[in-house]
Amino acid sequence: ERVYRVSAMPIGEGTGLFVFLFKDQSEARRIDRMRADFIANASHELRTPLASIAGFIETLRGPARDDAQARENFLQIMQNQTARMARLIDDLLSLSRLEVKPYSAPTEKVDLCSLLQGVGDSLAHLARESGVKITFDLPPGPLEVAGNRDELVQVFENLLENACKYGSSGGRVVVSAEDAGPEAEKTVTVTDFGPGIPEEHIPRITERFYRVDVDTSRAQKGTGLGLSIVKHILTRHGARLSIRSRVGEGSSFTVHFPPPA
Ligand code: ADP
Repeated sequence: ERVYRVSAMPIGEGTGLFVFLFKDQSEARRIDRMRADFIANASHELRTPLASIAGFIETLRGPARDDAQARENFLQIMQNQTARMARLIDDLLSLSRLEVKPYSAPTEKVDLCSLLQGVGDSLAHLARESGVKITFDLPPGPLEVAGNRDELVQVFENLLENACKYGSSGGRVVVSAEDAGPEAEKTVTVTDFGPGIPEEHIPRITERFYRVDVDTSRAQKGTGLGLSIVKHILTRHGARLSIRSRVGEGSSFTVHFPPPA
């Protein structure tokens, strides 16, 4: 469906002739609709833990008042719910910061090899908790791309975190990088050997709030925003994400950095 705004301008005076201008409004309408959907989703996501907290407060005031064990249990749930709201707000802020930040081509040189090792170190705790062994298959020298270091850390933290959370049943995660020479693109791939992603979901998992399985995502402390933040950052870097997955075998997420201009 296309929407046009029409305006008429007279040609000359008293000629009775007009030029009609048709301005295509479809894109503006689509963006308005996306924004409204986003606000509705975000409100719903925040409202769910809040409703649960409100419910537990009521129970603590009433039926559970004198039950020490129930009290402890409910306070723990409330604490988890507030942590969940905090994660959501952090992710929403990340997205909105990325959206308002004016785009400028990155000039900083970032060595992906040391960056990836650093990300691996910072996720060692999660990997251990998930029973996953992270291994690296990186070229020996530095692998430089033009980029914003903090943003790229966020990209690979998200991908590696997802591999540990959703792919933990595979027991291992491999981070590999390839440099096919100065004129070629550089790639980084995060591979897990977990349950994989059914094909019909793959094109949609980078959408905001999209999850393959909402319960698993919640249990894994997911917000549904991680991959949309990844995609946003990569677009700013002129890079792209490709996803390959087979149910029962695992998934690999590859970041392609363009060759230097
Ligand atoms: P979340 O915050 O829920 O983890 P993401 O945007 O990071 O959100 O990911 C979207 C969804 O994609 C997840 O909820 C999960 O269902 C699916 N997903 C992401 N990475 C993997 C993976 N490595 N293996 C299987 N499923 C994955």
